[in-house]
Amino acid sequence: MKKISADRIHTISHGVLTDHVIVYSDVGSIIAIDPIANHDPSTVYVLRGDIIPGFVNTHCHLELSHMKGKVDTGTTLLPFLQNVVQFRDISQAEINQKIIDADQEMWDNGIVAVGDICNKVDTADVKSKSKIDYYSFIEMFDFMQASMTTGTIAQYEEVYANQSTVGNNKKSKVPHAPYTVSQELLQYLTSNNEASATISIHNQETSAEDQLFRHKQGAFLDFYQNFGFTLDHLEATGLTSIHYTTSWLNPEHKTLFVHNTCTTEDDIAHAHQWGNQIYWATCPNANLYIENRLPAYQRFINQGAKMTIGTDSLTSNWQLSILEEIKTILKFQSYLTFEEVLQWATLHGAEALSYDDRLGSIEVGKSPGLLHLKGAVKSARKIDIRNAEIRRII
Ligand SMILES: [Zn+2]
Repeated sequence: MKKISADRIHTISHGVLTDHVIVYSDVGSIIAIDPIANHDPSTVYVLRGDIIPGFVNTHCHLELSHMKGKVDTGTTLLPFLQNVVQFRDISQAEINQKIIDADQEMWDNGIVAVGDICNKVDTADVKSKSKIDYYSFIEMFDFMQASMTTGTIAQYEEVYANQSTVGNNKKSKVPHAPYTVSQELLQYLTSNNEASATISIHNQETSAEDQLFRHKQGAFLDFYQNFGFTLDHLEATGLTSIHYTTSWLNPEHKTLFVHNTCTTEDDIAHAHQWGNQIYWATCPNANLYIENRLPAYQRFINQGAKMTIGTDSLTSNWQLSILEEIKTILKFQSYLTFEEVLQWATLHGAEALSYDDRLGSIEVGKSPGLLHLKGAVKSARKIDIRNAEIRRII
């Protein structure tokens, strides 16, 4: 049993506590949260700064970790994807080592759970051994070609079957993005996931996506032509891409929309009307890396949206650190507070991945991981984390 205290304890579920102590077991289970006056001071380890629960990273592609630094920044999404597709000639040994390194990097950066996109089984061994809990999203896409749907399903059902479910690891089958998935495949995913599954989908990452669905115009037409695919069956609907997704996915599932760089308040309201377990993952550094723009967070606040935070992969980020994502959010949209965004990075993420029975907040009975946030500066108005760093307590 250990006792720890700090200037501020961010419980997330019960506000920020001062003059309190966390009592926790050797494996990190929270036994009590008490006023410090109830404890002999010589038994309490006191830190300067803040204690926060472990971070939940709701969007990553661990299997792409070997692509770090290999794709140019600022190209926008379609050239970015073309660059990624063209990149080959890396040995499986190097791919495997980069996956191990990235898993360790996330652990060192205070991440306790990850929603991870998989097109392969490369990460399964690392996930089975990792101290991090992984929710593997096996991602399917058929380039909107109904003729490819059956083959796609067969290919990815095998990938699904071989994912890690060791310990707290979980898995579901998910669509890649509205612009790569036929309605037949969306319907398959609707009826071939467990009722408790979380379904993740890349959403409105680039303006070309909405252009395709609204007007059947824009850069995606060339993109498809380059790959030799026809979009003859696709009709312009006048509606944004999220309407296509909600037409075919199951509103009973928890749904995690990822990126949402171009999402409007009408889109958010539409999704909230469609389902009642909607989460919105933002990956700000990846958005800056690829498209050099960020979502307008005020729209999500206005609509009472449940935000979560992802790092995306090392293909489109400089590191895998939720603290760095929070710093970026607060740098560019400083009307938000650290406490508000910390909730996105912890409890909301844990809820989105259905890990909130153990993770996401400092509460008796949970084992959320405890992090020391060093170097945050508290003023009357705000907590400034620009120079803050994370050190794991447990
Ligand atoms: Zn992604």
